[in-house]
Amino acid sequence: MVNKLKIDVVTIFPDYVVMPLAQSLIGKAGQSGLVEITANDLRDFTSDAHRTVDDTPYGGGAGMVMMPTVWGDAIDSISNATSAAVHELIILTPAGELFSQSMAQELSLSEHLIFACGRYEGIDQRVTDHYRTRPEFRVREVSIGNYVLNGGEAAALVMIEAIVRLVPGVIGNPESLAEESHSIAADAQDEVLLEYPIYTKPSKWRGLSVPAILTSGNHGLIATWRREQAISRTEQIRPKTRE
Ligand code: SAM
Repeated sequence: MVNKLKIDVVTIFPDYVVMPLAQSLIGKAGQSGLVEITANDLRDFTSDAHRTVDDTPYGGGAGMVMMPTVWGDAIDSISNATSAAVHELIILTPAGELFSQSMAQELSLSEHLIFACGRYEGIDQRVTDHYRTRPEFRVREVSIGNYVLNGGEAAALVMIEAIVRLVPGVIGNPESLAEESHSIAADAQDEVLLEYPIYTKPSKWRGLSVPAILTSGNHGLIATWRREQAISRTEQIRPKTRE
């Protein structure tokens, strides 16, 4: 059965995500009803005239912290508006567990994803702690890499693109997913490989020829060559690529 995935992005800059999510395969997935993506303005859940979402940090220090009150009201309201039994709450933070292809695979099977995009110094820790006590939520603090962005919106876009393309029906030929980097199994030990080098026409370009094996028509030899290339590329570039 094809699952329908509902995605809510919560941000103080909804315009940051609206256009990118309407493009290409993700946009088409929205139009065809395989996914439904909503950009929610966190400030719509404030209760003061200034639509305040942040305050100074307890304990001192530079910058502002996003308040748990407004985040709690937003997440409660957004989760109550869906019939999903479980809400996957993804709190974006550079201090979270690293996003990976296997996490994308797992999340692509969800019913409801909520992306909480932080700004300033981030979101009050009690938001994570509170929703971890609620059985209808699965909470993950996730980082897309070991660097610091100004906000979680770009991170949410990265994750949504990686997740939605794995939703059954979004990519026409599912075989193209099986052979990609981070998806190719090297052996039985859960190791994953980077994709082998790829080529198209013309067969000669600026003195460089396509490897002869690829024009041989021998599919068995091509498969072996690609596997060897994937293994040597992974050993060279990512000697420790394991998920
Ligand atoms: N004070 C935080 C720290 O040192 O861990 C950094 C806050 S950052 C300037 C503001 C927001 O950007 C974060 O709350 C998070 O939502 C987002 N962000 C920044 N880098 C990120 C990353 N690598 N992965 C996911 N989200 C990130």
